[in-house]
Amino acid sequence: MKVTFYGTRGSIPVSDRDFVQVGGNTPSLLVTFASGRVAILDAGTGIRNLGNDMLAGSHEQFDNIFVGLSHTHWDHIQGFPFFKLAYDARRHFTIAICGKGRHAEKLENLFGMQMQREFFPTRLEKMGAEMTFWAPDVSRHTTPGGVTVVASKQNHPGDSYGYRFEDAGKTLVYCTDVEHVDGIDPSVVALARDADLLIHDAQYTPAELRGKKGWGHSSWEQAVAVAEQAGVKKLALFHHDPEHTDSLLLKIEKDCRRQFPEAFLAREGAQIQL
Ligand SMILES: [Zn+2]
Ligand SMILES: [Zn+2]
Repeated sequence: MKVTFYGTRGSIPVSDRDFVQVGGNTPSLLVTFASGRVAILDAGTGIRNLGNDMLAGSHEQFDNIFVGLSHTHWDHIQGFPFFKLAYDARRHFTIAICGKGRHAEKLENLFGMQMQREFFPTRLEKMGAEMTFWAPDVSRHTTPGGVTVVASKQNHPGDSYGYRFEDAGKTLVYCTDVEHVDGIDPSVVALARDADLLIHDAQYTPAELRGKKGWGHSSWEQAVAVAEQAGVKKLALFHHDPEHTDSLLLKIEKDCRRQFPEAFLAREGAQIQL
């Protein structure tokens, strides 16, 4: 399995010069499985470059590209209108929120709403690609392409879902937009158990977290605690705060590595082979 980060910033895209090293696009990742098939995680502004790269590489997969969403907060869907592959009538996407107890019955409406006339010049139904909106109410799924994904509901305003992919003996876990209340949430640790790579929300410093109760995010220290308790091999700090400059993030990475040497900042453009 291979993971490519196209957007790692939380909340809102940033483009100022103090942010270019780590990157300013909101969440979107490309996952390449052992079979060569791909899946996309989240559709923040990073999905624009993701689509452009797939087009430049003349990407051959047309049927059923799985787009798994952690949730539908704006920073996780706002890039979709600029995803060129969705304007290609030969392509088919399954856009999904997976997991028990999800509130995603209106997933198609939410995608349609951000492209309604008042906000955007083109309608969702005019984009061209075939889209299946999928919100199964179970926690274990098989993606189009036959990869197992386990989903787990997370504590976040309006709920979010963490995903665990297992493919060819490797495990990737994606837990963004998650708040730990009363210590580390054991369900997040269970999802991340023995993962080769855990991508975890690390929006705040421990000091910032104290003033952000109920905002739905984690500190880098909590991300490390999950990684340690779950016995993961590598930890990617993700969903960087839009106020965190490159120099602050590099300091966070340094502090974090003192506790967990296999931790690193999820940087836009980085590729991790598992
Ligand atoms: Zn977010
Ligand atoms: Zn959110």
